[in-house]
Amino acid sequence: MTISCLICHEEYSQQVTWTGLLLSSDQQTCDECYTSLQKITGPTCSRCFRPQESVEICSDCQRWSSDEQWQNMIQKNISVFHYNDAMKDILAAFKFRGDAELVKVFQKDFLASYRKYYSSYKIDAAVPIPLSEERLYERGFNQAKLLADSLPLPQLDVLQRTHHEKQSKKSRHQRITASNVFSLKNSSTISNKKLLLIDDIYTTGSTLYHAAKVLIDHGAETVFSLTLIRS
Ligand SMILES: [Zn+2]
Ligand SMILES: [Zn+2]
Repeated sequence: MTISCLICHEEYSQQVTWTGLLLSSDQQTCDECYTSLQKITGPTCSRCFRPQESVEICSDCQRWSSDEQWQNMIQKNISVFHYNDAMKDILAAFKFRGDAELVKVFQKDFLASYRKYYSSYKIDAAVPIPLSEERLYERGFNQAKLLADSLPLPQLDVLQRTHHEKQSKKSRHQRITASNVFSLKNSSTISNKKLLLIDDIYTTGSTLYHAAKVLIDHGAETVFSLTLIRS
């Protein structure tokens, strides 16, 4: 059977097996593209999943927890892939060229990480990090929502962006001290809930910490996060 790879668009042949016909979560890429994506397998920071030599809490996480305002906002982050060159290209196609189909490349591994790390936590709902309305209109889809769609959890669309400033133009310090970029649309559904924030990438943690703070400040019990990539 010949299929075209969702990443490089080359045709490749796939051996048809009974399980392949029965499972819809088959590999969506050629082997070469799939192996260029690097899963995080070694030791990581036990809080944010940053790949490192040991499982100790990393300096970024220590900084977050040394500030009373941000302490324990995110209990734990899990990520699936490293931010290598291949992933940078794919993420650019996914986000900036609006190739929504690419989510299919990640769904299976995203779900596997959820099952491995979070299935015992009794999480109530997933909360995808929203785009600004402007961005959503430009792109046509929210990649965090597409990722959340692959999980067996109800979704709560409770967050909204309060302003549109580009995060990347600010320094780390500015990003952390800036007033919260998120606000809550509706707080009635989150009180005493265990929530799982979903985003494509965890970089400094700033986006996720801001989102978590809004949720916790309005009554959520615990906030975890699951992100596709840890940079
Ligand atoms: Zn390929
Ligand atoms: Zn960390």
